[in-house]
Amino acid sequence: MKKRIYLDHAAATPLSSVAWMAMEPVLLAEVGNPSSIHHEGVRSSNILRACHESIAQCIGAHTDEIVLTSGATESINLAVFGALKAASMRGKHVVTVATEHAAVLGALRAAGADVAVLPVDDRGHVDGESIVAALRPDTVLVSVMMANNEIGVVHDIHHIGKAIDAWRKKNGSVYPLFHSDASQAPNYLTIDVASLHVDLLTLSSPKIYGPKGAGALFIRRNTPWSSVFGGGKQESGRRPGTENIAGAVGFASALVETTEMRDGEVARILPLRERLMTGLLEIDGTQLNGDHIRRLPNNVNVSFKGIEGEELVIRLDAAGIAVSTGSACKGGSEPSHVLAALGLSPDRINSSVRFTLGRSTSDQDILRTITAVRDIVLAARFG
Ligand code: PLP
Repeated sequence: MKKRIYLDHAAATPLSSVAWMAMEPVLLAEVGNPSSIHHEGVRSSNILRACHESIAQCIGAHTDEIVLTSGATESINLAVFGALKAASMRGKHVVTVATEHAAVLGALRAAGADVAVLPVDDRGHVDGESIVAALRPDTVLVSVMMANNEIGVVHDIHHIGKAIDAWRKKNGSVYPLFHSDASQAPNYLTIDVASLHVDLLTLSSPKIYGPKGAGALFIRRNTPWSSVFGGGKQESGRRPGTENIAGAVGFASALVETTEMRDGEVARILPLRERLMTGLLEIDGTQLNGDHIRRLPNNVNVSFKGIEGEELVIRLDAAGIAVSTGSACKGGSEPSHVLAALGLSPDRINSSVRFTLGRSTSDQDILRTITAVRDIVLAARFG
């Protein structure tokens, strides 16, 4: 049987052996609750502190600015609810973008925010000036993702953060706070919280070859943010509950590893991505979704003529190739709000497929994928 080809790294990455080797002894031997004062507890607490330090170092943060969570959705909810709670006397106006992940749009809705959702252009970019133009005296938060999970489009967070900073200075205010969902970023983009001018930043372990069930929220020192969970004093009271130490160790190791591998992986994966993109776009009637240039180097999102995206995903799966129709988090066959925001027709949205490459992707995988896609699409059209 042919080896399976996994091209859905935006949904979940495999666990790296480095992360696993760091986790294994913790899972097997570290019994202590980090809050306990005995030897075992202190050992666990020290391991946890080292995780905070490693994560902080990778993004240019202070150790106490890192809050460990169960993943991106929890980090985003903490960011949103905590920011709105602290700002309750000031307002609840929030500015965000139409292509944000459901975790951001859903958290804002659940928090009862008064949300301005800004449009993107047909390549998926938001205009930085439009963000500043949308700010009001009662705007307490701006949330813009660093890289989109469906179309890979990269936003200029540095530019947007600087513009927000300038607005705050001009208005003599700490508001609005600036949050960025960087879940998809660390494998390919440098994250430096100072140069990005973010107050809050979300990280996710299972997108960076770490274990599932782990992530972090960066909260800049002195940011007006209130705890939203009641419970113990873990994570300085910001995320109560006994910590997932093995998850934190795996996540921290994965983040260090991916930061070290970043330049090499970008250089290796970009030509593979270009080969895949070119091969797919050579199939008559195929169109690229999202900007070609300002895009994660592992992402291809294309629409095909004459076949539904879901059918292509199922047929590719049967041929041993795992791809997706978009975000793994949207329910069933609900059409992509990201592609709709680009102004694409319902037909084009329904016929879209996302291919996201990763560390294991080889030249052979790309050639096999192009051939399989071409055969399936042509068979669907003429069969
Ligand atoms: N934000 C982005 C950009 C994502 O890609 C995802 C997951 O696909 C999430 C948030 C939510 O992550 P999780 O389901 O791990 O909480």
